Amino acid sequence: MSIFLNIKTQLANQKVTLVAVSKTRPNEAILEKYEQEQRIFGENRVQELVQKYETLPKDIEWHLIGHLQKNKVKFIAPFVKMIHSVESTKLLTEINKQAKKHNRVIDCLLQIKIAQEDSKFGMDEAAVLELLNSEQLSGYQNVRIVGVMGMATFTVDKNQVRTEFKRLKTVFDRLKSTFFVEKTYFKEISMGMSGDYSIAIEEGSTMVRIGSLIFN
Ligand SMILES: *Cc1c(COP(=O)(O)O)cnc(C)c1O
Repeated sequence: MSIFLNIKTQLANQKVTLVAVSKTRPNEAILEKYEQEQRIFGENRVQELVQKYETLPKDIEWHLIGHLQKNKVKFIAPFVKMIHSVESTKLLTEINKQAKKHNRVIDCLLQIKIAQEDSKFGMDEAAVLELLNSEQLSGYQNVRIVGVMGMATFTVDKNQVRTEFKRLKTVFDRLKSTFFVEKTYFKEISMGMSGDYSIAIEEGSTMVRIGSLIFN
């Protein structure tokens, strides 16, 4: 069996959602996975995402997993299913505004900074609390915060990676019990990539974003 089908089966058994990260991959490679029943694909650049949306089957569920600039939200608002990289109230406000124009609700994950590296995007806990406490939020009908996302430090130190994933799980649990107690839709922890998805699942991931391992 191919690595892809192996991982797909394993994740299905564990009830973990696979986001196939197709950035930089050509349409043919995506269609090959599509024909093997994969429907959720993740991209990190808006222009590439729009191009692929326009040329690939319409029942694909597209996730934006990379840093998103406010002025580009309008290009993906008509179709994007989930945005993993919400890291400010301003960005969430813009997503709500653009989704409203299309009469849609866009699922969003709050990206939390868990890595020690400076290069990784995301909010610290204070910023998350500020976002969730902001008064405007209750009026937002066109975004739904369904969970959190984080990226661990790129390192061979498995203990460090595990510690960072544990941190994200702790943040999720805290937010769940404070802001989303009755909200069953707040359930996603997007963590884990090709190199660290097994650790992520052990630490409570519900959604992994895997690219190189399944496309190479
Ligand atoms: C590229 C990317 C991934 C997938 O990385 P792989 O190591 O190829 O599995 C996951 N998440 C984000 C945010 C990415 O940019």
